[in-house]
Amino acid sequence: MASDCIFCRIAAGEVDALVVAEDDRTMAFLDSSPISEGHTLVIPKAHYKGIVDIPEEEAAGVMTMAKRLAMLYENRLGIGEFNVMQSSGKAAGQTVFHFHMHIVPRRTDDGLSLWLHKNERLRTDIREVYRKIVG
Ligand code: AMP
Ligand code: ZN
Repeated sequence: MASDCIFCRIAAGEVDALVVAEDDRTMAFLDSSPISEGHTLVIPKAHYKGIVDIPEEEAAGVMTMAKRLAMLYENRLGIGEFNVMQSSGKAAGQTVFHFHMHIVPRRTDDGLSLWLHKNERLRTDIREVYRKIVG
């Protein structure tokens, strides 16, 4: 555990959080600055920075818990629509460098605009990047 990492300290029970679900490897708690009702973070208890270094099984565990929370929130909050988001790296807007997935319950007309805007500059030939990816 990284003692200077706030999410490691939450996972270790050293810092309080409103924990809504937990199993041996994964934990979910309410975001302390929510952007919607029920905004939740799901983390692996072990420290990984982002999507590149988290092991596949841990990533799968996080997604499984996110899926269970979605069902729970539909039941308890009456909200069955969500954005599920993850930022890896500074350039992507990550501010806490312990892997986490945001579960953002959505309501029609909640005023949030989370979808990424299209970048006109990149509206070129996507075949070139396709070739780089698949070789
Ligand atoms: P990101 O920008 O994707 O790295 O998101 C970090 C999130 O962690 C933000 O939405 C913060 O509000 C949230 N956050 C930071 N510290 C805490 C904390 N102690 N308890 C709960 N959520 C936190
Ligand atoms: Zn950590």
